[in-house]
Amino acid sequence: MDRETRFVQALTRRGYEVTIFDTGAAAAEYLDKAIDGKTVGFGDSETMLSMGLYDKLATHNEVHDPMHRPEGESFRANARKTLLTDVFLTSLNAMSETGELVNIDGTGNRVAGSLFGHEKVYFVVGLNKLCPTLDDAIYRARNVAAPQNSARHGFSNPCAVAGDRCYDCSAKDRICNALVVHYRKMRGIRMEVVLIREALGL
Ligand code: SF4
Repeated sequence: MDRETRFVQALTRRGYEVTIFDTGAAAAEYLDKAIDGKTVGFGDSETMLSMGLYDKLATHNEVHDPMHRPEGESFRANARKTLLTDVFLTSLNAMSETGELVNIDGTGNRVAGSLFGHEKVYFVVGLNKLCPTLDDAIYRARNVAAPQNSARHGFSNPCAVAGDRCYDCSAKDRICNALVVHYRKMRGIRMEVVLIREALGL
């Protein structure tokens, strides 16, 4: 059995709906059809930015995305709205072939939105983030994704300066203040993993 099949089977056993697409464009088209007339919250995601999801969904849904917030609205005010929407979308920092999903967050809105309060959560993620084990996935989240995200935000955290690994820093802009491992779908909420056979995100 190949690793993609093993992963999909593990996700299904853990209660997730799973869809797979060859490209980000195909996944964006699917989500654009699936989510209509809803209030929608976005978690910070390079993957979703590269797919142009905000622009697509905002034409026929009420979308709140801290990265596309209206002029004059604070990050906090916008991010609070994302927590009370019908649908929440975010990506992942890593996942294991055994079906665990891993995310790190600095402010908390992204992981908070992925856990509670919505009819449905979508995790939109490239298969480049698939790791053999949970330990490998946590390693990737901490030592690959977080340093790259630090650099993307323009922070001078030690990982962004050296560009190699996590230094478990105490920097004021530390972006790794919580690590969430999704062992199974949360109770009382639908969760779908939208897999893309492309290298997307960090
Ligand atoms: S804890 Fe600090 S050094 Fe480590 S990845 Fe996060 S921001 Fe970078």
